[in-house]
Amino acid sequence: MHPRVLGSAGSQPTPKAGCSCRLCALARREGGRAVRTGPSLYLHEADLLIDTPEEANQQLTGHGLAPRRIAWTHAHPDHAAGLRVVQFLAQSSGQAVEGWLPRPLYPVLAERYPLDYLVDAGHLELHLVSPNRPFELGGVRVTPLAHALAEPVFAYLFETPSARGLYAPDHLRSLPLPEGPLDWAVVQMPIPPLDALSFELPPEHAAWKNFYTFEEAVEVWRGRTRRLVFTHVYESVRMTPEELDAVAARAGDWVRFAHDGMEIAEAAPPRGEAARLEAFRAEQARIEREFGHDPKRMRAELRRLWSRYRSERP
Ligand SMILES: [Zn+2]
Ligand SMILES: [Zn+2]
Repeated sequence: MHPRVLGSAGSQPTPKAGCSCRLCALARREGGRAVRTGPSLYLHEADLLIDTPEEANQQLTGHGLAPRRIAWTHAHPDHAAGLRVVQFLAQSSGQAVEGWLPRPLYPVLAERYPLDYLVDAGHLELHLVSPNRPFELGGVRVTPLAHALAEPVFAYLFETPSARGLYAPDHLRSLPLPEGPLDWAVVQMPIPPLDALSFELPPEHAAWKNFYTFEEAVEVWRGRTRRLVFTHVYESVRMTPEELDAVAARAGDWVRFAHDGMEIAEAAPPRGEAARLEAFRAEQARIEREFGHDPKRMRAELRRLWSRYRSERP
C-alpha cells in the first residue's frame, strides 16, 4: 500500500496567522518540513482521501491528486472545514465525488458544513456505512473503527491481501486497537519526553489524561506495526522537525514523525514472516465470515487469533 500524509498539523497549522513563536518564524523563513497544514491522508490504492482540512484544495493540487473518493474521521474543523473541495473535484471531473461516511457522523457533519448542499448540487454521492463493518474500495477493505467517545470519531483500517494499515490521526486513548499485525500505522502524536520539551507540563495538565506519553505510545504499538508514524503534530509542543526526528530516533528506526507530503514506504516483512502473515489473514477472513452476524464473538475470536500469532513469534 502507498499511503501519503498530505497534512501533518494538529488542530492548527504552522505557520499560523499572527503568531510569532519560533516554530512559526522558522516555517515562514525556511518552509519545507516546518510548514504543516491540516491533518489528512491519501491512499493511492483506493484513490481515497481521508479528511478535508481547510487546506485540502492546496494539498491536492500540490501533489497533482484528484481523488474520486473521500472519507471523514470526525467533524472537527481541522478534519472537515475544507470539504468544499468536493465541489472543485466534482466540477473538474464532471462526476460526483464518492463520500464514505460512518452513519453516526452524518448528522454532525451535515449540521456544521454544507454537506447537504454538495449532495443536492450533485457534487457528492454519499455512502453511509456501518461503524466497525468493512466495505470495499478498489480492492482495499476499509473498516471505520469507532472510538469509545460520546461524539462520533472514527479511525480507518485498510487491508489488502498483502498489507494492513491504520489511520487514526486524532484521539488515541479511545481507539479500540485493531487485532492483528499492521504494516503501517499513522496515529496521533504522543506527549514528547519531558526532557525534549522547552516548557513545563504540570502534572495537573489535561494533556496527561488525553494523550499517551511517548514511552506509552511506543509500548502500545511495538509488535503491532512495522512502521509507526506520528501525525497531528501540535504547534503547541513547539518542536522543530529536527527535534522531533531526534525524539523518534530514541525508539528506533520504525518510528517517525510525519511531515506534509510524507510517503510511507512499504517495508517488506522480515524473513519467515510472510507465510505467517498469510496464514493470519486467511484465518481472519474465516472468522469474519463465520461470525459476521455476531460482532462480539467475532472480536473475541480475532483477539484469540492475534494473541496466538504474537505468542508464536519466532
Ligand atoms: Zn484534529
Ligand atoms: Zn506559532
